[in-house]
Amino acid sequence: MTTRPVNPVTGLDFTPAVGDMPFTPLQREWLAKAHALGRDRFAARAAQWDQEASFPFANYDDLREHGFLKLCVPVEFGGAGADFPTYMMVAAEIGRFCGATALTWNMHICSTMWTGVLADGIAMTEEQRAEHAARRQIHFARIVNEGKLYAQPFSEGTAAAAGRAPFGTTAKKVVRDGQSGWLINGRKIWASLSGAADYYGVLCTEDKGDDHPDARDTLYISVPATAEGFSISGDWDPLGMRGTVSRNLTFKDVFVSDDEQLMPRGIYFKGAQTWPAMFNTLSPTYLGLANAVYDFTVQYLRGEVPGEPPIKRRQFPTKQITVAQMRLQLESMKSLFTRAIFEAKPNPSKDEKLRLYAAHYAVMEGANDLARLAIRTCGGQSMLKHLPLERLYRDSRCGALMLPWTAELILDRMGRETLYEPGEKDE
Ligand SMILES: Cc1cc2nc3c(=O)[nH]c(=O)nc-3n(C[C@H](O)[C@H](O)[C@H](O)COP(=O)(O)OP(=O)(O)OC[C@H]3O[C@@H](n4cnc5c(N)ncnc54)[C@H](O)[C@@H]3O)c2cc1C
Repeated sequence: MTTRPVNPVTGLDFTPAVGDMPFTPLQREWLAKAHALGRDRFAARAAQWDQEASFPFANYDDLREHGFLKLCVPVEFGGAGADFPTYMMVAAEIGRFCGATALTWNMHICSTMWTGVLADGIAMTEEQRAEHAARRQIHFARIVNEGKLYAQPFSEGTAAAAGRAPFGTTAKKVVRDGQSGWLINGRKIWASLSGAADYYGVLCTEDKGDDHPDARDTLYISVPATAEGFSISGDWDPLGMRGTVSRNLTFKDVFVSDDEQLMPRGIYFKGAQTWPAMFNTLSPTYLGLANAVYDFTVQYLRGEVPGEPPIKRRQFPTKQITVAQMRLQLESMKSLFTRAIFEAKPNPSKDEKLRLYAAHYAVMEGANDLARLAIRTCGGQSMLKHLPLERLYRDSRCGALMLPWTAELILDRMGRETLYEPGEKDE
C-alpha cells in the first residue's frame, strides 16, 4: 500500500482501499482509525485465525475499545452516526488487513444499520415508527453501553436466503408467564460469529397457525446467546474466511419477549424491497481483499516483502503486463463501488439498481480474479503458507457465494430486470 505525505484532497497519508476522494471529516477520522488498527494489529494476527479457524476475539477487543461496534448507531443514541457510504469505506479498509474480521463486523453493523439509517428510509405507520423507536433504543443501548455483539443468521440451505421462499425458521406469538413475546423454532446454517455473538438477529417467518407461510410476514428478532433452547452445532473447517466461525444454530421453543423484535412486523420485507443496497454491505470486505492482493503483488515483484529475499521479478514484461491488468480491474472495481455507495438510497431508479448489482458482482468476482492473477504472476514461492497471498486467494473465493446476492443470482437479476419492467410477463 502507498504511504505518502498527507494528501490535500483526502486529508490522509495513505490511499484507502476505496481510493482517493474528498472525504468528510467523519470518513477521514474512521478511515484513519481503521487503517491504523488494521496495519498495526489485524494484519499480523490474520494468519492465526485462518490457521486455527478461530474467531478473531483480540481484533474485536480493539474494535470495541475504539468505538467500531457503534459506528452506525445514530448519534442521538450515543453512536458515531455513520451513513451507508461511510460504513462501506471503513469496512473496505478493515477487509484489506483481515477479511474475516471485516466480514463478521459487517454482520454486526447490519443489525445497527438496518434498524438505524435504513429503517429511517422505510415507510412505516406512526404506530410502527413509535414501536420501532422504543425497541431500537434498547438494542442500541446494549451496543453503546455494554459493547454487545450481534450476529446475522438468515441462511437455511433453502431458497429463503436467496429471497425466493419464506424462511423456514418460525416465530409464533405467545404469552408466557404473563409476558408477551415470540416462540422461535428452526435452524440456521452458516451463522458467522457463532459462539462469539451476544445476540443473534434471526430472520424468521411469523407462524400464524394457518400453514401458509408468507415472506411478507418475515420478522427480524434478536435471540440472546443465553436463551434456553438455543444451541450451536456442526464442524467448522472451510476453505476460506475461516475466522468467521459460521456454524449451525438451532432454536427449539426459544422464548423471547416482544422487546427483542428488531423491526416491526412486515418491515423487513418492505426494507428488502425499498433498500436493495442493504445486501451490498457484504462487498467492501472483498474490495479490501482485492487491494491487499494488489499491494502484495507490487511489493513482491519489487522484491520488497519484509522477511523475504530481495529478489526482483519486475523486469519481466509479462509480469508488468499482469500488474497493469490487475490495476485496470482494481480501478474499475473501485469506481463502480464508489458510484454505487453514493447512489445507495431507498427506491433507487432502475439504472441505479442495475449499477448496484454490477458493482457487487464486479467486486465479488473481481477479488478472486485478482488473487488468481497475483498467484500466477508472483509464482510458486508466493503461495507458500508463510505469506498472505494464498489465504487472500481462499478468502476471496467466498464473496461470490454469499446469499442473497451470489454472483449467479446477480446475473439472474440483472438480465431479468433489464429485459422485463416490473409486472411485465410473456404470454
Ligand atoms: C464466509 C461465509 C460467511 C457466511 N456468513 C453468513 C452469515 O453470517 N449469515 C448467514 O445467514 N449466511 C452466511 N453465509 C451463507 C451464505 O450467505 C449462503 O447462504 C451460503 O453460502 C449458501 O450455501 P448453499 O450451499 O446453501 O448455497 P446455494 O445452493 O447456492 O443456495 C442455497 C439455496 O438457495 C436457492 N438458490 C440458489 N440459487 C438460486 C437461484 N439462482 N434461483 C433460485 N434459488 C436459488 C436454492 O434453493 C439453494 O438450495 C456465509 C457464507 C460464507 C461463504
